[in-house]
Amino acid sequence: MSNKADGLNREADAVVVRAGQVFEKWRRVPVPERAALVRALRDVIAANKEALADQITAEVGKIRAESLGEVQEVIDIADFACGLGRRIGGVTMPSERPEHAMLEQWHPMGPVLVITAFNFPMAVWSWNAMPALVCGNPVIWKPSGKSTACARAIHALCAPVLEKAGFADLLQIQAGRGAQVGPGLIADPRIPVVSFTGSTETGRLVSTAVAARFGRCILELGGNNAAVVLADADLDLALRAILFGAVGTAGQRCTTTRRLIVHRDVRDALVSRLVAAYGQLRIGDPTRPETHVGPLIDAAAVDHMMAALDQAKAEGGQVLCGGARLAHLGPRYASPAIVEMPAQSALVQRETFAPILYVLVVDSLDAAIAANNGVPQGLSSALFTANLRAAERFRDACGADCGIVNVNVGTSGAEVGGAFGGEKDTGGGREAGSDCWKNYMRRQTSTVNYGSDLPLAQGIRFDLP
Ligand code: NAD
Repeated sequence: MSNKADGLNREADAVVVRAGQVFEKWRRVPVPERAALVRALRDVIAANKEALADQITAEVGKIRAESLGEVQEVIDIADFACGLGRRIGGVTMPSERPEHAMLEQWHPMGPVLVITAFNFPMAVWSWNAMPALVCGNPVIWKPSGKSTACARAIHALCAPVLEKAGFADLLQIQAGRGAQVGPGLIADPRIPVVSFTGSTETGRLVSTAVAARFGRCILELGGNNAAVVLADADLDLALRAILFGAVGTAGQRCTTTRRLIVHRDVRDALVSRLVAAYGQLRIGDPTRPETHVGPLIDAAAVDHMMAALDQAKAEGGQVLCGGARLAHLGPRYASPAIVEMPAQSALVQRETFAPILYVLVVDSLDAAIAANNGVPQGLSSALFTANLRAAERFRDACGADCGIVNVNVGTSGAEVGGAFGGEKDTGGGREAGSDCWKNYMRRQTSTVNYGSDLPLAQGIRFDLP
């Protein structure tokens, strides 16, 4: 394989070397056997679900119910990956030439680098790592500097299982500041696949560097997700979905509901109920079972939220509730806000990674679709309606332009069985279920001639006289 990239430090280089060595062994292991090892990882993770959830809550401040949900997601994708062990494969195609067979086969790629954001400190790694392992690849994980202890905790559980199987280096961590260790790793041609989850800004840097060496990049970047509520919607259902979507994980999910696009006829009814529901939220210690909203990741995130609220007001926005620093709880706490915005707003074009829900009022489904699509990001969208025609319009080719389009289901809380990811500035990547395993494999088309003649494709004649 090619030489290491310039700028890779000695420790990171050793990690890449070890990954390359274990790849040579692992790629030879039959796929169902690889899945059996993933099954063993899944079992040790499931047996330690509570402790791992505690670690997530302690380090990033996710409320306990959501931390347990995150670990469950790791278990679910491991189950999914085990199933892949008996079913990944290619197709056969009819050949235009007699006595020829044409088929496609899939092979492992090599070491996969997984760079993750702080907000899903275990699940996003697992969406990549579990299928990548079954596909025959080792994984190098560069976790966020804000959630390194979570990465080390889940790795510590996996390490003895891998060691016992003789594959200690299949999962490795290369921690450190992104701007320091990231550039050397992403430029390294010994790493054929880079999965990056994080902000659109950083994702642009990563994808450019990986593209420059013709590597493969999976990008899971920022979202600016809208819930559209039509006049005929079931408001009870919409209210619950929007509330969880907007304030879950303290507004720090990529799929957080950031925009509420509501039909004028139900604006008052819905918004007044939302404001009342925000008033009942219990904000505080994320380890307590009754808490709905824990802290943001750090004090800088609260500053960022306050700056966005200032800009909202400067643009003519009206704060309907929340948006206060909760200094008595600590510097990482703020109350989730609802802000009604004018139709034209620069702020609403951006992802504000904090619990602020921007309300926009529209008069028709067409206007709602235009507003939904009228931002640079394209991750998740939701429509609330009882009208089948409206629902299908939202889902059709001229409807919502996002990677995830839900009907009477909120923007956040995806299941692992589907492909997860988004379009436009969200990066175009897809991870987790469906056929996302193909990200971690290379496709080979083979034609086999089992006859004694040599016909050429397209009927070309090339006979000697
Ligand atoms: P971030 O972009 O600041 O950091 C993400 C990761 O990139 C971290 O591990 C960081 O250390 C690393 N990094 C930083 N500079 C780097 C560089 N120059 N080269 C390589 N790596 C580098 O993002 P964040 O604040 O941790 O997370 C929040 C963002 O992540 C939000 O925009 C959110 O929408 C997005 N996100 C997206 C998804 C998705 O699936 N679409 C999921 C979770 C989070």
